[in-house]
Amino acid sequence: MNTFTFYNPTTLHFGQGQLEKLTAEVPKYGKNVLLVYGGGSIKQNGLYTQVVHLLKSIDASIFELGGVEPNPRLTTVHRGVDLCRTQNIDLILAVGGGSVIDCAKAIAVGAKYEGDFWDIVTRKATATGALPLGTVLTIAATGSEMNSGSVITNWETKEKLGWGSVFSYPKFSILDPAHTTSLPENQTVYGMVDIMSHVFEQYFHHGANTPIQDGFCETILRTVIDTAPRLLQDLNDLENRATILYSGTMALNGILSMGVRGDWATHNLEHAVSAVHDIPHGGGLAILFPNWMTYTLDANEARFKQFAQRVFGVTTTGKSDRQVAEEGIAELRGFFNSIGAPSRLADYDIDDSTIELMADKAMVYGDFGHFKKLTREDVVNIYRMSL
Ligand code: NAP
Ligand code: FE
Repeated sequence: MNTFTFYNPTTLHFGQGQLEKLTAEVPKYGKNVLLVYGGGSIKQNGLYTQVVHLLKSIDASIFELGGVEPNPRLTTVHRGVDLCRTQNIDLILAVGGGSVIDCAKAIAVGAKYEGDFWDIVTRKATATGALPLGTVLTIAATGSEMNSGSVITNWETKEKLGWGSVFSYPKFSILDPAHTTSLPENQTVYGMVDIMSHVFEQYFHHGANTPIQDGFCETILRTVIDTAPRLLQDLNDLENRATILYSGTMALNGILSMGVRGDWATHNLEHAVSAVHDIPHGGGLAILFPNWMTYTLDANEARFKQFAQRVFGVTTTGKSDRQVAEEGIAELRGFFNSIGAPSRLADYDIDDSTIELMADKAMVYGDFGHFKKLTREDVVNIYRMSL
């Protein structure tokens, strides 16, 4: 196990009825609230009305930035930063999924930075502070509600890049499974794939003596695998929605990466696909992860064997370690297929004509990944396997 320092300042309000906590949380930060939301789902399911009602009950002044895109864009961040400056915003309240929250994090930090926010994403400048941010989460997926990460797309340069800072943790996040029941089946699937992918990114490492970390990861994976079919049978089931919602937060709030060095190569591969083709993050991960696993199996067969045994219950009698490991990867493919996740880039009409461009985008900071360092050639190979 590596040495580590754990820090996570986000207050989590989890469960039914927790939206009311807005009336206690918001006044801590001031009166002027910038309400950030996406393309309209919160207006359709009534959440917008509930949030506005609660904000009005505490006499907050509400300013709005709607229309945040899935895979949020730099241009929208700029609009939000302008609003913060001109309207003297005290608190940013993001109501939506990872895209809305990531965009709100960028606005919060951008509002305290004199230059172009893209400098911070591209590591030309470091964040110096942030406006306070609160979130009301509507999709179990990214963990953005309780971490400091954010992913922003510069559509002009076709770059989709992650960034983060000590200032970009939400002050508070409200998670009510009832806010996620309106999520359609495909987005529910993408969310569950993203959750599992976050666990994979932290589970596949070369560290020794990590029994607690392994157990946490394996429990989350087994739980999502066990819950997914039941949730997809009934998208309104609040118990299953709650289980997946909690899984999403636990998968990427820093707890799983205590004492281990995660990989994160597959997220980088996916961001490059989304940067060029604007596909859903979870859809891209479902295609890429099994191929990354097959490609990197040699880097640590024992780790994949443990994954196969403990997550999918693959038996070992009479089999080589490699066979067990390969069966685990095949089980994962089967599971993704069973929940209707995409399995090939062709499912998004992506052919080999953009592989070089995607590889360029993936290589923006050079070779990447810790479980196995990927070179440009590796990246091209994995994209080819995924066609
Ligand atoms: P999302 O992009 O925020 O939302 C996907 C879609 O779901 C949107 O069309 C949204 O519609 C809809 N939606 C959300 N909640 C809904 C609800 N309750 N009912 C009906 N529709 C709903 O999805 P996401 O997976 O949470 O976020 C993806 C982004 O996060 C990607 O850019 C990804 O790269 C990034 N990401 C961030 C982190 C991190 O740690 N920060 C980690 C992994 C990935 P509306 O727009 O109309 O609301
Ligand atoms: Fe992700």
